[in-house]
Amino acid sequence: MIEVRGVHKSFGHHEVLKGIDLTVEAGSVTVVLGPSGSGKSTLLRVLNHLEKVDRGHVRVDGSLIGYRQVGDRLYELRERQVLKQRAAIGFVFQTFNLFPHLTALENIVEAPISALGRSRADATARALELLDRVGLADKAAAYPRQLSGGQQQRVAIARALALDPKLVLFDEPTSALDPELVGEVLDVLRDLAGSGTTMIVVTHEIGFAREVADRIVFLDDGRLIEQGTPTELLDSPKHDRTRAFLAKVL
Ligand code: ATP
Ligand code: MG
Repeated sequence: MIEVRGVHKSFGHHEVLKGIDLTVEAGSVTVVLGPSGSGKSTLLRVLNHLEKVDRGHVRVDGSLIGYRQVGDRLYELRERQVLKQRAAIGFVFQTFNLFPHLTALENIVEAPISALGRSRADATARALELLDRVGLADKAAAYPRQLSGGQQQRVAIARALALDPKLVLFDEPTSALDPELVGEVLDVLRDLAGSGTTMIVVTHEIGFAREVADRIVFLDDGRLIEQGTPTELLDSPKHDRTRAFLAKVL
């Protein structure tokens, strides 16, 4: 369902993605591991055209991300069409990024109303369901500053799900949290994975990766060095760099 083919991306002279090929099946969970600066966040950002690729392409359910193909030429999509594609791909950031002046409920209903044209009543009903699902039914009226980091991140996850995305991207969703709050967010991710949400998760939580991932991919210096099932990648990594990385994080 997601096809990344020959993707290159540079910032100035610095080539950050050096030809990435990756396939993600519908309903699967892919965990992305790799050292700092290896290109993990850039790869996620390329998937929903927050960064434009220099070469290669990304397809989600057959549709090119960011471009329209006519014959063998590519034309960049207009901003409105890019926003529409982006609405089908949820993104959860390390630092929650909730609107501070909106309540938990208002944070969740904003995009379905503005991007999908849902009625406020429908969006609110769905948001309340999602808050319940992430264990925050009683926090609908709370502002972000009144919530713990773990609770804010669970609101951010509910907000991403409110657009009924085909795919949800998570960029180190627990790494800004105090250790005692990590578990409640991983529980939500585990629940999503179990319900068949297609997910790509950048994380250093190896225990979570082992338990929940269908595939783990290891990125190093802009290249996808190795991929496999959790057992393959974590227990018998083939590449020296994968071994060296795992020795540091395990
Ligand atoms: P981390 O684990 O620290 O989050 P990462 O694997 O997510 O690292 P990226 O954020 O993708 O790494 O960054 C890869 C490289 O690209 C880094 O060297 C970074 O400095 C550089 N980079 C990322 N975004 C930009 C940008 N907008 N402009 C210039 N350089 C960038
Ligand atoms: Mg990153």
